[in-house]
Amino acid sequence: MKQKGILVVVSGFSGAGKGTLMKRLLETYNERYSLSISATTRAPRAGEEHGREYFFLSKDQFQQMIREEALIEYACYVENYYGTPKSYVLEQMEAGRDVILEIEIQGALKVKERFPDTLLLFVTPPTAGELENRLRGRGTETEEVIHNRLKRAVEEAELMDQYDYILVNDDLDVCVQKMHELIQAQHLRTDGNRELIARIRRELRNL
Ligand code: ADP
Ligand code: 5GP
Repeated sequence: MKQKGILVVVSGFSGAGKGTLMKRLLETYNERYSLSISATTRAPRAGEEHGREYFFLSKDQFQQMIREEALIEYACYVENYYGTPKSYVLEQMEAGRDVILEIEIQGALKVKERFPDTLLLFVTPPTAGELENRLRGRGTETEEVIHNRLKRAVEEAELMDQYDYILVNDDLDVCVQKMHELIQAQHLRTDGNRELIARIRRELRNL
């Protein structure tokens, strides 16, 4: 019997390297994982495409999705809305693929409430100084937005211990490998294998 896919949430400070990690994980293990594409009201960065990095929506369109209950979760992050479209995630899990949600902390906790078997991973650079370097080095945000995102990181750090695992993104390939191993280990947990346990018990009783 094919096992259903699991949900994996990847969160972390802005500039920690989540997007870079996701790209590498999917290039390496593209047959196993599906990355959910979020909806957002923020403007696309140079090089970003509608339907690839995000579904870039107006505020009205985003509110329409909320009304239609088409989102698993949504949250406001530094003045923009971000949310996870429901249908793709459910379809992919049904098809046996693990679905990765790269989302911020408020959304992550809502997903865990709704789907308690979700694996929660938190990505951090080795030091705060390195975070600032990466965020500035990316060169995609104004000084004001960088300041607001670093302020937000202070708040996020207060909640990072609610995650199942912390992944230090120092060497990218090492971090990708650890992420893959943690996801595979999650498949073996007893709480995600209730059906298998019930079946073995039934079979043993009927021997
Ligand atoms: P996030 O999606 O978490 O905001 P990004 O993936 O955009 O972060 O990465 C922020 C910057 O840090 C990018 O310029 C990226 O190339 C760089 N970066 C990501 N991972 C590493 C790493 N392990 N070592 C050094 N630089 C990294
Ligand atoms: P960015 O603007 O850098 O792409 O993303 C800003 C923050 O929004 C990041 O922490 C990212 O993980 C988060 N984010 C992206 N998509 C979603 C989503 O669908 N839901 C929630 N709650 N957060 C998201």
